[in-house]
Amino acid sequence: MTIPGILDNHIGGSEVAAVGGERIEKFDPHSGALQSRIARSGAADVDAAVQAARAAQPGWAAVPAVQRGQILHRIANLMEARAEELGAVVAGETGKSRKEGMGEVGAAVQCARFFAGEGQRLFGRTIPSGTPGKLNLTVRTPAGVAGLIIAANTPIANVAWKLFPALICGNGVVLKAAEDTPFTASWTARAALEAGLPPGVFNVVHGLGAEAGEPLVTHDLVDVVSFTGSTRVGRRLAELAGARLKKISLELGGKNPLVVMDDADLDKAVRWAVLSAFSNAGQRCAAGSRIILHAPIYDAFVEKFVAATAALKLGNGDGDDLGPVINARQLGNMLAAIDAAKGRGARLLSGGSRLADQDHAGGYYLAPTILDQVDPADEISRTELFGPVTCLYRVEGFDQAVELANAGPYGLTACIHTRSVDRGLLFCERVRAGVTVINAGTHGSEAHMPFGGRGLSGNGSREPGTEALDVYSELKNIALNADPAQT
Ligand code: NAD
Repeated sequence: MTIPGILDNHIGGSEVAAVGGERIEKFDPHSGALQSRIARSGAADVDAAVQAARAAQPGWAAVPAVQRGQILHRIANLMEARAEELGAVVAGETGKSRKEGMGEVGAAVQCARFFAGEGQRLFGRTIPSGTPGKLNLTVRTPAGVAGLIIAANTPIANVAWKLFPALICGNGVVLKAAEDTPFTASWTARAALEAGLPPGVFNVVHGLGAEAGEPLVTHDLVDVVSFTGSTRVGRRLAELAGARLKKISLELGGKNPLVVMDDADLDKAVRWAVLSAFSNAGQRCAAGSRIILHAPIYDAFVEKFVAATAALKLGNGDGDDLGPVINARQLGNMLAAIDAAKGRGARLLSGGSRLADQDHAGGYYLAPTILDQVDPADEISRTELFGPVTCLYRVEGFDQAVELANAGPYGLTACIHTRSVDRGLLFCERVRAGVTVINAGTHGSEAHMPFGGRGLSGNGSREPGTEALDVYSELKNIALNADPAQT
């Protein structure tokens, strides 16, 4: 069965129920039906997982990085050979299509292969010394035990982006999966074991954030924390980590601008705007949730954009364009935010309600929503909703477009559509974002590129890419001194 009726933790290579014996009910986003009951872990479960990781880590670190890479390749091979099965797990727990689930598996395999190769390139530096006969160099050493906490939106990609760099650096790992997408993480842990990863190196605990996530961050034997999730929770975890002087990498939210200038290829801009705003039901940190339009093309863009949005098909089939949002709480939050914005004067151009027809009524389906006549200072312009909701803004010129793109507390991704090289490059230079794009979408990076943001989008770290190695390893400086008297 793709999605088991009961799911336990994966600790020390075994499936174990939570110490307290409690479980959380997990619902199918597509139908709203009860899907499974997962372990509700607490501090004792986290402690068991961390102890397992701590015990296994020295043995794993002693395996040369090149050979660690071979094991990562074997995990990738298994993921590839069973892509249909893993894709179905991703689809089943998120409500997205199998095709999308498979696409995510492909991206995760690429990530595994990239970091497997990094085992052959775990480079340090040689640094010239001012002292005669002294050779100075740096090497990467494992951080120790890595505590990973992830969001639900792209389950296997989120696992891969953190797990593989953590493993190649020689760490033991404890992953707190998102409570809405626990199955992919457990699937990966079992596959990793089968591929030859020693038991205990990769452990998965399930449960709620405050109960199973916080104890991972505060555990004395966890050396580094990497978190992907909301800015609200990220701030809390940064406080907990900071009080312990613990290294933490934060990949947080976004309110990403997509600018369309008067010289843009309008049809192309509309295509990318639809994908940016609504793919994965808008549940992407990089979603294009603020579309900034140059006045001369405003009306023409709106007409095409509303028409393209109306043509989108919602469902979990391969022919559908987007699925449901992840849970009933998120759906309720979004509907409330849309209604409140309308109450403050926003104009609804499309969507704005839950789908009520027979095929969708049980699931958490929100019609793709477009609003305009929204003040840039309004709450809906400044708050990430993490769903298929986007707002349109009118600007008179390039400078105003950049100013508006830079308004607000986030700085993750930004995109401009223009045929002018000058406008494109100047936009990338001036916009306050970690990832900038010309003539495509506000889309994320590939596995070998650094991703991350400014402001409330993160705390300065970048994952994945080779930059992720800096999160999961500690540099050690080694000085070798040649003594002429000994020759
Ligand atoms: P969330 O912050 O509510 O939850 C994310 C994870 O943190 C879950 O596993 C959850 O159980 C855990 N968690 C919640 N409270 C916790 C606590 N007090 N202590 C420890 N762990 C806790 O976020 P969400 O709504 O599930 O995910 C959406 C958010 O993730 C959005 O803000 C989105 O932008 C962000 N995101 C960022 C990136 C990125 O790379 N920057 C990628 C994907 C998602």
